[in-house]
Amino acid sequence: MSSPTGHPDCCGGGDDHDPLGCPLCGQRGHGVPPETVDAFVPEAHREESGSFWFCDTPECAVAFYPPGCGAPVFVSELPVPTGVKAPFSDTAPLCHCFGITRGEVVARAASDHPASAEVAERMKSEGCACAIKNPTGQCCLGDVRAVEGAQTGQKSGTVQ
Ligand SMILES: [Zn+2]
Repeated sequence: MSSPTGHPDCCGGGDDHDPLGCPLCGQRGHGVPPETVDAFVPEAHREESGSFWFCDTPECAVAFYPPGCGAPVFVSELPVPTGVKAPFSDTAPLCHCFGITRGEVVARAASDHPASAEVAERMKSEGCACAIKNPTGQCCLGDVRAVEGAQTGQKSGTVQ
């Protein structure tokens, strides 16, 4: 194990470990607002660190981690399943505000009224509460569009 330079080596990542990277997959996630931390990070973790980042890697088991070092919050500890961290689940919600599942997004991706259109419309009329309903703390629309894009891209590139 190499000696740490400025960053304690407690994560086991060595000198080139990104202090803002996920302790498990190493990818840099994104910071979440305090209300998201309050809503989804178990209290025991909150006593250790005031701020948390969300790991965006779908297949990584880490949901939240404190920047630098500290114990991550695993997906299994989240109070709700979330589609962004469950790439093989059809039933995990992708849009938490309006309860739209990954399966629904996939099924409607190539239709006249894809889920992203519904989310965009309902955001305008009903508003959304992604910061406290979506573990990522971000607007679900980006996640919905990403799944739709992957879906339609796959379809057009595959000869059936
Ligand atoms: Zn990760």
